Amino acid sequence: MSLEGRTALITGASRGIGAACARELRARGCKVVITYHHDDGNAAALAQELGLEAYRMDLRDRPATRDVAARIEAEQGPVHILVHNAGIIRDALLPLLSEEAWDEIYEVNLRGAFLLTRLLVKGMLKERWGRVISIASLSGVAGQPGQTHYSAAKGGLIAFTKALSKEVATYGVTANAIAPGFIETDMLSGLSAAKREQYRLEIPLRRFGEPEEVAAAVGFLASPQAAYITGQTLRIDGGLMTA
Ligand code: NAP
Repeated sequence: MSLEGRTALITGASRGIGAACARELRARGCKVVITYHHDDGNAAALAQELGLEAYRMDLRDRPATRDVAARIEAEQGPVHILVHNAGIIRDALLPLLSEEAWDEIYEVNLRGAFLLTRLLVKGMLKERWGRVISIASLSGVAGQPGQTHYSAAKGGLIAFTKALSKEVATYGVTANAIAPGFIETDMLSGLSAAKREQYRLEIPLRRFGEPEEVAAAVGFLASPQAAYITGQTLRIDGGLMTA
């Protein structure tokens, strides 16, 4: 399962699922580069802990995103494993949903994946090996009230993955999505205790997932052993959705 000699880029890896992915891919032997958004010290601490490079990238800023991605490639060499992890929620029922929130959710959760993949997939095609792994969401598969924008963006990310997988398959590049259910990260900090308990009881495994349980799947999908898996969406949700 070794990924020695490969370079991985993970967006939004200062905490949560992204940080767990950085640890997982580092443990599998590949060089890891992360991006962070706020300079709160988390990314620097992780970079020091794992001996990796960290770049600031705000996916809402289109020119800056392109520039930073190009700088990463120039300074770190071709990216073989691209993990679209950065994501945000701004929950609101549709009649109350602002146009600004719609745009922001689209920019961070979907447009960023387009901008980064368009640039970095070229290196993968040249190397005849690559992995594009997108952290989508169960909301993008099933839809979730209060998340029309988030569900649309994550559903778009899943469709993007399917189409991309067909474009790049003959070059040894795979594209897959992961659709987590409820995972214990800061993203769930806005849930009330009552809501948490309600959701927990709806999950057949009766608990929320851990970031490491998503990262393990990222590690496998990045591995040589997953070479025949492409265009898929893997749900990691404690059994919430089975159809
Ligand atoms: P998290 O702990 O809130 O981390 C989100 C990451 O995205 C942070 O590193 C954050 O950086 C970064 N980010 C936010 N805005 C950004 C921007 N404008 N540009 C670049 N990066 C930005 O969330 P998480 O739970 O680990 O989420 C990781 C992924 O899993 C997301 O795509 C999320 O949608 C998806 N997901 C999570 C769950 C869940 O239950 N946790 C469920 C389904 C899907 P800063 O900290 O600097 O803002």
